[in-house]
Amino acid sequence: MIVVMRPGASETEIDGVKKLIKELGLKDQVIVGTDLTVVAAIGDERLKDCAVMEQAPGVSKVMRVLAPYKMAAIETTGNQRTVVKLSETCVFGGKQVPVIAGPCSVEGEQEIMEAARQVKASGAHALRGGAFKPRTNPYAFQGFGEDGLKMLAAAREETGLPIVTEVLTPSDVELVSEYADCLQIGTRNSQNFKLLEACGKQPKPVLYKRGMSMTIDEYLQAAEYILAEGNPNVILCERGIRTFEDHTRNTLSLSAVPELQTRSHLPIIIDPSHGTGHARLVPSMAKAAVAAGADGLAIEVHQDPKHAMTDGAQSITPDQMDGLMVNLQRVAEAVDRECIPVEQMLGQV
Ligand code: PEP
Ligand code: MN
Repeated sequence: MIVVMRPGASETEIDGVKKLIKELGLKDQVIVGTDLTVVAAIGDERLKDCAVMEQAPGVSKVMRVLAPYKMAAIETTGNQRTVVKLSETCVFGGKQVPVIAGPCSVEGEQEIMEAARQVKASGAHALRGGAFKPRTNPYAFQGFGEDGLKMLAAAREETGLPIVTEVLTPSDVELVSEYADCLQIGTRNSQNFKLLEACGKQPKPVLYKRGMSMTIDEYLQAAEYILAEGNPNVILCERGIRTFEDHTRNTLSLSAVPELQTRSHLPIIIDPSHGTGHARLVPSMAKAAVAAGADGLAIEVHQDPKHAMTDGAQSITPDQMDGLMVNLQRVAEAVDRECIPVEQMLGQV
């Protein structure tokens, strides 16, 4: 149930609504939008009598949200899109289409520093790189852990780019949250509900990737685990799903972009690297994603893809990234969005 407050409702009125929600045995969550404030009542509301809420001071209307996901549903914000900010120059859900770029893994201090300089020069708005890697094979490189986080932090220090890095387990959430500007939850952990809850309890934005075998409906219900813990800053990410097709690593479901935007207010970005598994397919899918209305991109870039420790086959080179950013700007303009290179945003060029 969503309680929409009247414009200008006072703190006392909002507190009154929160109290009523608690009395019904539900959990309250205030969502402050640019135009209106709503209070979500979370829990099983089916047997509750919500009429009392409608009479409360400051209340404009009470809506039952039919979707099984409540806080993620578009109705909850009255069709206002959620804006998630990693930095002044990296904001998802607005007119700008930010690009997160960098290697699959943090491979060393020099390597990630060089990668950060290169993706910034290409125009990217955030740096990615895994310090904790979820590997299919237990004997494969697992990442540098906390040392990798320190290397990312040093690269942020020099370039000013916010850093996005994966967290694998609830017990690492606090550590990763200390370093990262945005915590990534990977496809393999997409229904690790304890991890989702732990990320919901910490303050940094979350880049939450769709499970490779998840339906859209399951995806939004799982995103709800993060939102219901009080963290509204969730960025959805389509990274391809498993199908019978094997010419690509995954099948990139671009229709997930308009579908998710119809159902949810959360920003949705595309990862064309994991979505295809082949560097040669990445630029086309990145452009197609922006044309389809994606709110951002996450792209793997490596100085020397042939020798990358992980995901070299799907990593584009810095030169290719330079060219892609120019084209992305043009596609973005064609669909009334912007993809302005970060240095231009900073007035540094
Ligand atoms: C990654 O971003 O490197 C990664 C492991 O992604 P995914 O969880 O989508 O496979
Ligand atoms: Mn990868």
